[in-house]
Amino acid sequence: MSKPLNILFVSSEVEPFAKTGGLADVSSALPKAIKELGHEIRIMMPRYRFISERRFRLHDIIRLKEIPIPVGNTVQVGNVKSSFISNLKEKVQVYFLDNEAYFGREGIYQSPSTKKDYKDNDERFLFFCRGVLETLKRLGWQPDVIHCNDWQTGLIPAYMKTLYKDDPFFKSIKTVFTIHNMAYQGAFHADTFEKSGLPRETFHLNGTEAYGRFNFLKSGLVFSDAITTVSEKYAHEICSSEEFGAGLEGLLTTRRKDLRGLLNGIDISTWDPSSDNFVFRKYDAKSVEAKVDNKRALLTRFGMEFTPSRPVIGAITRLVEQKGFDLVLEVLEDLVKLDVQFVMLASGDKDLEARFDKIQRKHPRNIALVFGFDEELAHMIEAGSDMFLMPSRYEPCGLNQMYSMRYGTVPIVRATGGLDDTVEDYQAGGKGTGFKFEKYDAKEFLKAVQRATTVFQKPEEWKKIMKNGMAKDFSWEHSAKKYIGLYRDLVKQ
Ligand code: ADP
Repeated sequence: MSKPLNILFVSSEVEPFAKTGGLADVSSALPKAIKELGHEIRIMMPRYRFISERRFRLHDIIRLKEIPIPVGNTVQVGNVKSSFISNLKEKVQVYFLDNEAYFGREGIYQSPSTKKDYKDNDERFLFFCRGVLETLKRLGWQPDVIHCNDWQTGLIPAYMKTLYKDDPFFKSIKTVFTIHNMAYQGAFHADTFEKSGLPRETFHLNGTEAYGRFNFLKSGLVFSDAITTVSEKYAHEICSSEEFGAGLEGLLTTRRKDLRGLLNGIDISTWDPSSDNFVFRKYDAKSVEAKVDNKRALLTRFGMEFTPSRPVIGAITRLVEQKGFDLVLEVLEDLVKLDVQFVMLASGDKDLEARFDKIQRKHPRNIALVFGFDEELAHMIEAGSDMFLMPSRYEPCGLNQMYSMRYGTVPIVRATGGLDDTVEDYQAGGKGTGFKFEKYDAKEFLKAVQRATTVFQKPEEWKKIMKNGMAKDFSWEHSAKKYIGLYRDLVKQ
């Protein structure tokens, strides 16, 4: 048997400490799955103020106190705290890099009150990237691979290939960079480059510069030893057009042989309708009839009438352009005419919120909206809905369609990225796990919903689709093995 690997997994969000989206779920579930397969993996993330020391039992690490971390012409100080995430089988150590000035705030990337990005996000995450390497050295724990995620970690591979390349501690460490979303690049004013301490020549078209800006994501893509993204289809899409590659499609094409699409899994212990403490009544594929009690409970919560034959459509989303809810707005009143009930939990764009609100006020018996971030309600919607909407313009992987299938909630999705890779379109006779539409178009979307509502009226057929979805294995084990295969390929080189 080959020897276990040592991996450092670096991310700006890790569930349950800090989350704005799917990155946090992945950053917790994937390390746990890798550890279960017998490897040593540890996580490093920033210590945001809201991560409670008491609740998460954070403790100091004496030898990781007051670490000097260069930022521009100054030296800032980092302190490291530690805790664990665990499931029934394994514990994974998490290091939190603390600096009050950078991370002692209420939000992760933006102020919760103004919804505007912090102006010094460049410096905050530059500090983080440099701090990760300085911490590692002091810790004296030498991983085989540093696995970076998204733009917030994008300078780590650049530092490794320049400032730290002759340091014996770092010499043999490989880097993997995972793209969770090409649209968020961390592209800052060229002046920021000075603060990075990177050699001048790396601010170049073949380095960290893109369209005149200092681009953290590009840095990760150029300097890492291998790149992954979170579905095969998205790997193909981001190389093939500007719409998906967001201006970096040329670079991605040149690195195509180093780019793999590895589908995200889901945390099947957190998202399990037979043990979910947030749901009104637990159920599984054998007792799927009990799901209807969750539908009743969900509607009751919103003061809506319960009728078994009327489908409830759920949605849980960040309300941003990517997610395609402008299509939903265009045909929301047509949906009401189909006699469906729509329950949406969303956070994000204020304009979109206001437009939804306006229509909701006209149809309070058919539409319920909650604006905000609510983990418990997210579970209730998954359990209580018959169908689930994800009409995304693009979707690197998407998690909610997989949660939905596991909860017997039939997804209606646009055939893009991971949505296309994970959902099989319905075919007469009860084949398939959901309903897909190809073109980004409100009428096409409406047609898919109409198809779903028609089949919903044939309960035996509908039950087959539910069960097809519930029988799918979306656990992390399969993908975790592929990541390990990738790490091994790199370490061998
Ligand atoms: P993205 O990362 O692009 O937002 P994903 O589908 O990969 O999309 O992951 C979204 C994750 O965030 C899921 O776990 C989903 O349940 C959760 N989520 C999104 N919006 C909300 C919200 N308003 N309240 C609670 N959970 C949410």
